[in-house]
Amino acid sequence: MDELRLAGAKAAEIMADHLAGVADRPVWRPVPGDELAWLTGQDLPEEGRPLDALLEDAREHVLPYPMGNGHPRFFGWVNSPPNPAGVVVEPLAAAFNPSCAGGDHAGPHLERAVVRWLAELVGFPHPPGGGLLTSGASMATVICLATARQRAALADGWDAREEGLSGRPAMVMYVTEEGHSCLHKAAQLLGLGARNVRTVPVDAAYRMDVAALRAMVAEDLAAGLRPFCVAGSAGTVNSGAVDPLDEIADVAAEHGLWFHVDGAYGALGILADGAAPHYAGLERADSLALDPHKWLGVPVGCGCALLRDPSAARAAFSLVPSYLVDENAGDLGWFAEYGPEQTRPFRALKTWATMSYLGRSGITRLVNHTTWLARRLAELVEEAGDFELLAPVTTSITAFRHTPGSGDLDALNRALPVAVQRRGNAFITGTRLSGRDALRACFLHPDTTEQDLVVLLDEIRLAAKRL
Ligand SMILES: *Cc1c(COP(=O)(O)O)cnc(C)c1O
Repeated sequence: MDELRLAGAKAAEIMADHLAGVADRPVWRPVPGDELAWLTGQDLPEEGRPLDALLEDAREHVLPYPMGNGHPRFFGWVNSPPNPAGVVVEPLAAAFNPSCAGGDHAGPHLERAVVRWLAELVGFPHPPGGGLLTSGASMATVICLATARQRAALADGWDAREEGLSGRPAMVMYVTEEGHSCLHKAAQLLGLGARNVRTVPVDAAYRMDVAALRAMVAEDLAAGLRPFCVAGSAGTVNSGAVDPLDEIADVAAEHGLWFHVDGAYGALGILADGAAPHYAGLERADSLALDPHKWLGVPVGCGCALLRDPSAARAAFSLVPSYLVDENAGDLGWFAEYGPEQTRPFRALKTWATMSYLGRSGITRLVNHTTWLARRLAELVEEAGDFELLAPVTTSITAFRHTPGSGDLDALNRALPVAVQRRGNAFITGTRLSGRDALRACFLHPDTTEQDLVVLLDEIRLAAKRL
């Protein structure tokens, strides 16, 4: 084991050097041709190689080419820097290496605690067993929508798992144009059919138009279809908008729809100063998807599905072959009965470590600071003559665009993200909002400063001049 001890110490040093140096390196740079060849073209060595050599390779060929999300001026998509507590316990989880499918060992027990913590943090009712960690919100969404589908079928007197969906009225789901693609992917995967996912219009603030939702549900009912689920967003990726959850919950209650909330990115935003009223109704959802690997900074991947009624998820997934029957499983059974994954990694350890390291006050400070940055960028954008704010700021995302003089602003703003990224001083991504090409900056890094916002705007101006 001496080799492991030495290599472990060296790995710790490489890790610390990497994290300490992130801010001094380019946010991102393209992988050069020779390194690309090394990464993609190598052969499996015939003989095994020593740990020390592998670490040297990782230091030389892997760590210099990051995605960028560790850097305080990375504002792309929704990708956070890793929390140090999550980082240091990752090797322990690997050394321990349980399958958290279930059973009486530390992993599943700790998972119960962190799932409860997550639910408590955002004020979601948490009955024991009402949630599980997943690879991310995409998988959490599959779990929640499969649960909703089976719940609707059982309510109508049939069993979707047994029969499949053919010969039954189409199950219809409602999402806004701003709803995340994972909602559509999940609906497609579950055999609901893309054409049975309705696009509910949004208001000027990119929030669901609930009157339109109500009308669409009525129309589908009149047509003999089976509206079964409405998915609201608590923090969209484009603008950070939070749908009017309380009003959506009313419509769901009126028509017996499953109310799912996609809070993958934004559920934690409820902790920001003054933000809670935007989230009213979150606690009425039947299910909530929330990603610890987004705002919390738990190292990728870690999502979470929270369920008001744990038995509904169990009814949708439990399938215990005889070789897995566990007499000691207790009332809640195994986590593997609540989703598609059987062998499940020990995601709870890094989540427990990150949440414990920050504490409730540290998490609140992180959410407040990053939300403040988004609000401050919106102010800077509005004060500047050559930028335009495209949406109100609710969470930690600012949607805007560069408007220097006339010319084709859509083409300019479409070209800007890559042009800014290639300069290496800031990383921003784009989107389309109301048919216009837009820039969006998402703030998740605890070390981002107000000065970084000034740098961002200047980088955009410089990149635009070169274009
Ligand atoms: C990231 C994200 C998702 C998808 O989650 P993954 O963890 O990437 O699977 C869904 N919805 C929103 C709003 C997100 O930000």
